[in-house]
Amino acid sequence: MKHYSCDLCGKDLADGLAARFVLQMEVFAAHDPAEINECDLGDDHLEEMGQLLREAEEMDLEPAPAFKKMRFDMCPSCHRKFLADPLSREAQKFDFSEN
Ligand SMILES: [Zn+2]
Repeated sequence: MKHYSCDLCGKDLADGLAARFVLQMEVFAAHDPAEINECDLGDDHLEEMGQLLREAEEMDLEPAPAFKKMRFDMCPSCHRKFLADPLSREAQKFDFSEN
């Protein structure tokens, strides 16, 4: 039997007994396909990309992947909270008010 636990609160979700919700997220760089042309794929573009990567390194940041797919298991309680505030905007407002 496969074991699941809630990725948000860690609650055990025994397979087949507890309700389990699966969250799948895809994040990708958005750009207008009409803007892609041969110039974008040329040397200038590579130079620009290199510059961006160097700037990211200088800031001591890992470059964020342009595409990422994530999957999370959630218990019914976290599922309900997620649907009420998918981007944790309320939590962020709270953080800002403390600063
Ligand atoms: Zn949970």
